[in-house]
Amino acid sequence: MKCRVCKKAESTLPEGSKEPRFCSRCWTTRLRQLFQEEDRFRIQRVMRTSDAEKYHIFHDDFEGGATAVGLAFALLDRVHDQLEVSAFLSNRFEWHQSVPFIYEEGVECEVEVLDVFLGIIENDLVAGWRPCRWSAEITLCTDEIFWIDNSEREGEEAAGDDATA
Ligand SMILES: [Zn+2]
Repeated sequence: MKCRVCKKAESTLPEGSKEPRFCSRCWTTRLRQLFQEEDRFRIQRVMRTSDAEKYHIFHDDFEGGATAVGLAFALLDRVHDQLEVSAFLSNRFEWHQSVPFIYEEGVECEVEVLDVFLGIIENDLVAGWRPCRWSAEITLCTDEIFWIDNSEREGEEAAGDDATA
């Protein structure tokens, strides 16, 4: 079987049970480009407890990385050593756009930004917890996020009390 990209060299990678698709030279190029795309994401941890963390997700292409394109939670079940990840992604960012992977031999578009993000979940977020098992559920959100803040509500009640007093 010849390499899918250059169609010249014998394909030997990826290793494993599936049929190899790339030669080692094209595979290296692919990995390098994947790492570069992953670097455009930034995950910022905003809350941490012993069993859970909350993160904001940024991407260079969205408002210069100044505004989050999503948020994620990781919750560890210590009894079963299982990590549950929930991610909520804003549709203001185009998650299904293709990232062109350019090889010396030509162009191959096969990776969506969403796939790059899933790599981030696995290699950055989950890897930090080193769980025995993990799963992730990803929700693409079609509406604006809104907030309810308990401290603001307490402020209103306090103001109401003042008014009736
Ligand atoms: Zn090749």
